[in-house]
Amino acid sequence: MKIVETTSCPVCGGSRFEPFLSCTDHFVSGETFLIKRCTDCGLKITAGAPDEDEIGPYYQSERYISHSDTSRGMVNRLYHLVRKTMLVRKYRLIQNRVGQQPGSILDIGAGTGYFLRFMQQRGWQVTGIEKSEQARQFARDEWNLELLPAAQLADLPAQSFEVVTLWHVMEHLQNLEYTWKRLTELIRLGGLLVVALPNPASYDARHYREYWAAWDVPRHLWHFEIPHIRQAGEKHGFRLEKIQRMPFDAFYVSMLSERYRNASAPLLRGLITGKLSWIASWFDAGKCSSLIYVFRKD
Ligand SMILES: [Zn+2]
Repeated sequence: MKIVETTSCPVCGGSRFEPFLSCTDHFVSGETFLIKRCTDCGLKITAGAPDEDEIGPYYQSERYISHSDTSRGMVNRLYHLVRKTMLVRKYRLIQNRVGQQPGSILDIGAGTGYFLRFMQQRGWQVTGIEKSEQARQFARDEWNLELLPAAQLADLPAQSFEVVTLWHVMEHLQNLEYTWKRLTELIRLGGLLVVALPNPASYDARHYREYWAAWDVPRHLWHFEIPHIRQAGEKHGFRLEKIQRMPFDAFYVSMLSERYRNASAPLLRGLITGKLSWIASWFDAGKCSSLIYVFRKD
């Protein structure tokens, strides 16, 4: 198997790693992967993940909702309900920071296009990149929205967006450094970069350890905590302006984690742990299951 070989840390450039945690891919393959930790900055990285040519089958799951848009099962129904609430919150977060007028937005990893359609309906000029043909087809059929395949990220004109968003996408990127360079080129001065990521320092991550569903090996390669994503942004000309909690994710992640560790009554247990995580995040955003990072290009 061809793998992603990470010999230097994408955040600090360090080259020394230590084993951190052994995690199983409960979602698709049942294979086990090691998460290693940069001894300089502490960034956690999935070791030995299949490379771009071989990762495809690891996304082949009926349950992979962000692409297939199925709404079967209680966990999925909950996910869809929360997504509607989050669309409004995401829109407000962006519009309040950009000012009165809508502008031009790029969503990388646009999935089935829900977010972009929501923005388009509110006057935004939208562009989306999505590597799954199935998801692009859905966006075309359902919203008449033409998303671009991943390779076209290279062709977008420089300085053409007020806002670029990556909603739970950056942790998947095999070409992380290249994407950061494109972000720097594509966003106008004073524009926003909005990145949502799972938080490995969260209450639920600590509670579930190797069963924490948001490790999501080998699909998630980079497990950023607040200091890491701040440093990565600064390295590429972005200032971290705001951190917003995504507390609902704690429920979904906790239910999945309970299922992974074969707990009895996983939904009930997941709800309880999700609620505890939610409460913990009121007092300390750093304990929140997922976080939205808003960067400004200065
Ligand atoms: Zn490092």
